[in-house]
Amino acid sequence: MGKPAIRYSDLFTKTSMAAPQEENSANARLLVRAGYVSRVMAGVYAYLPLGKRVLDKIEAIIHDEMQAIGGHELLLPGLHPQENWKATGRWDKFDVLFKTHGEDGPEYALGPTHEEVIVPVVKSFVQSYRDLPFYTYQIQTKFRNELRPKSGLLRGREFRMKDLYSFHATQDDLDAYYEKALQAYINVFERCGIGSVTVPTIASGGTFSEWSHEFQTETAAGEDTVYYSAAKQMAVNDEVKDKVLAQEDWANETLETRKTIEVGNIFKLGTKFAEDFGVKFQDSDGNSIHPVIGCYGIGTTRLLGAIAEVCHDENGLIWPESIAPFDVHVAQVGKGDELAAFTETVLAQLKALDLDVLLDDGPGSFGSKMKDADLIGIPVRIVIGSRAVKANAVEVKRRTDKDAEMIALDALADYFR
Ligand code: ATP
Ligand code: MG
Ligand code: MG
Ligand code: MG
Repeated sequence: MGKPAIRYSDLFTKTSMAAPQEENSANARLLVRAGYVSRVMAGVYAYLPLGKRVLDKIEAIIHDEMQAIGGHELLLPGLHPQENWKATGRWDKFDVLFKTHGEDGPEYALGPTHEEVIVPVVKSFVQSYRDLPFYTYQIQTKFRNELRPKSGLLRGREFRMKDLYSFHATQDDLDAYYEKALQAYINVFERCGIGSVTVPTIASGGTFSEWSHEFQTETAAGEDTVYYSAAKQMAVNDEVKDKVLAQEDWANETLETRKTIEVGNIFKLGTKFAEDFGVKFQDSDGNSIHPVIGCYGIGTTRLLGAIAEVCHDENGLIWPESIAPFDVHVAQVGKGDELAAFTETVLAQLKALDLDVLLDDGPGSFGSKMKDADLIGIPVRIVIGSRAVKANAVEVKRRTDKDAEMIALDALADYFR
């Protein structure tokens, strides 16, 4: 049994037909106009009830896929001691680190990522090879002092990220897990409805290892350029292009240049952080060695923004079903007891089908309600007017369809099957 419909008038947010002046990206313009987010300052957004519902759905998919590869959820702090960042050498090197200090003098970092916290936290639990491997993750607010926050949700100074960390006794074990994580990432983007425009991309491993993999979503709003091979279903990014193409199995590839945004990144970190914090365990031969670590990030708010970039038209958002804030947008046009009673009958049917419904039974005109429905972008729209009551049928239209169709009330269940 589904939940009761939510009345649009109870949400407090309103749509706006005027494009916000300070926003130049499609994702922010549409999400602000439709009442999903509100800009607090450059690079910092409030997630309003509609936006929070979408973010929750995206994050539920991510929880599901992370737990499917053995991830256990935890929650780390956002405020980090300076000494941890000094220990890894990143206090001065991490270019977008937000630094702050307390009344008592010492400085702190606002977490842009969490190696500096998770590794010392797990230290006392990693004693023997029997304690490994394990995988733990969180979804949490991150802070980065980006020089230019831009493109709406795509580059914020405060944003949410899922970060998973894996701890292994051997490099082989990390390598095997990394492949599983890569597949889980493919599943996440597929389930969020942007699988066809999101590709695993070979990227630099930085100081940690030779390669990492980014997940890059094709969009004109993207800041990255990747070179996609259809044959390999894999891309290479700008920084490693020449190096990858020099390899034998890539020279002959036909490559397509794409503008993209990085929605995820998985990394083999090796033993660097374990060394920095003195994390060691006894292997089966009794040697004391460092565990090898992997880290796996997805920007969940950037992902929301990227989906909005990909899934919209000139009239508004077009949410993939899996992450839409509601399944059905019911617009009651007109007033009166008979109409209200008919709407209740329709809502009861939708509830029995376990569908989440947004009900617009306010005083607006047909035209303005249809504009709102298009802007908000819920996958299916049902219009109930006096014509519907007479015909004992409702007018149904998918957001992606051009024309509506009349569906008899007793055929409505079949429509959603
Ligand atoms: P970019 O190259 O776009 O700056 P990054 O490589 O610095 O991203 P990572 O350190 O790999 O980012 O962080 C993991 C994920 O966090 C990224 O793949 C992205 O989805 C997200 N992310 C990073 N920076 C931001 C930001 N400023 N705003 C929103 N999401 C971000
Ligand atoms: Mg960055
Ligand atoms: Mg990057
Ligand atoms: Mg990255």
